[in-house]
Amino acid sequence: MNVATTLPGCDAPIAKEQRPVLRERGQREVFCGLTGIVWLHRKMQDAFFLVVGSRTCAHLLQSAAGVMIFAEPRFATAIMEERDLAGMLDTQDELDRVVDRLLSRRPDIKSLFLVGSCPSEVIKLDLAKAAQRLGAKHMPNVRILNYSGSGIETTFTQGEDACLAALVPEMPALAADAPQELLIVGALPDIVEDQFLRIFKQLGIDRVGCLPARNARDLPSVGANTRYLLAQPFLADTAMALEGRGAQRLDALFPFGAEGTTGWLKAAADAFGIDPDHFERVVAPGRERAKRAIAHSKGKLEGKRITFLPDSQLEVPLARFLATELDMTPVEVGTPYLHRAHCAQELDLIPPSARISEGQDVERQLDRVREDKPDLTVCGLGLANPLESEGLSTKWAIELVFSPIHGFDQAGDLAELFARPLRRRDVLEV
Ligand code: SF4
Repeated sequence: MNVATTLPGCDAPIAKEQRPVLRERGQREVFCGLTGIVWLHRKMQDAFFLVVGSRTCAHLLQSAAGVMIFAEPRFATAIMEERDLAGMLDTQDELDRVVDRLLSRRPDIKSLFLVGSCPSEVIKLDLAKAAQRLGAKHMPNVRILNYSGSGIETTFTQGEDACLAALVPEMPALAADAPQELLIVGALPDIVEDQFLRIFKQLGIDRVGCLPARNARDLPSVGANTRYLLAQPFLADTAMALEGRGAQRLDALFPFGAEGTTGWLKAAADAFGIDPDHFERVVAPGRERAKRAIAHSKGKLEGKRITFLPDSQLEVPLARFLATELDMTPVEVGTPYLHRAHCAQELDLIPPSARISEGQDVERQLDRVREDKPDLTVCGLGLANPLESEGLSTKWAIELVFSPIHGFDQAGDLAELFARPLRRRDVLEV
């Protein structure tokens, strides 16, 4: 099929032969966007996430994030009771009281996110209006923003996308005559972010910002001289918002594995005019270290068949990593939402034999898994146990989101995350 069109959120027309994608719409088995608070609150050290939701939302957050015993909490749920839901109370007034109490007790909070949930969306509670009203009251001490983390969205990583997209209008403007700046987009563990910043510095790229920033005061600037690299494949809305402010995306592989990380760094090096020999000198040691680390898992993984059920939106770049660097065979690569432009280089490297699917219809997908009988299935928590009981090895997709997996120094651990379930099965079968 020849297509010449512009997809929503894409920065360039697509006019080439596209590989077929199986599109499915049906029952979904994924966490909601509130899950993102678990890693976002660790990353943004002076932010607070106030979910406006139900007891179910509070339970989800508490069980996913655990209880913080020694630190002041940085997330909470304003629980909507029956009287709120029935419209018997003015929920906006209630919310104002909760926020005022919170901010008077916690002067350390510099950004407050009001996070929408299924219940707040069902009763059409206008959190944008609340954020505006409360923001005006508490500025300049606290920036108050809102986004949706509800399960009505496609999958849980959209929570991060919505949060970062909400930050983009707050970013200061980069002057039109300012030198070109690089922006890394996507929440990375601090240790991984520091590794990348060190490499960019060695390359000679000094003006580098990160979205999200660790502190509210460090929110980077954005403008026509911003070149941004996506660190995660699930940031379509954030990318669109950045482009609305003039920033340009650097097309690249995602930084998973030795080759993915090299490609990601190279996209920035080329955009900033870095000499190729210098690039090679800086990057080669890390790349070789990553290749050696990956080799430890290769014996276990090469030739093995793998299926990804749609869950985190990391599926496409991870399937590429496993196919090109570990010689695995992707059977089906399912993803809740496929951004063709952001994943274009990844898709080109996934073997044509792999079935790419977008969206979810869980029963039909499980039928295909049973028929394909892959050696390993990457799926959500709720599907892993039933598949294991049928004799199939599984890997929890959410573990890949919570583990540091980007960059050269994490490439060996990333490969090992896939090798471990196969080793465990070997042990159980002895
Ligand atoms: S936002 Fe929706 S899906 Fe998520 S915990 Fe609350 S009620 Fe459940």
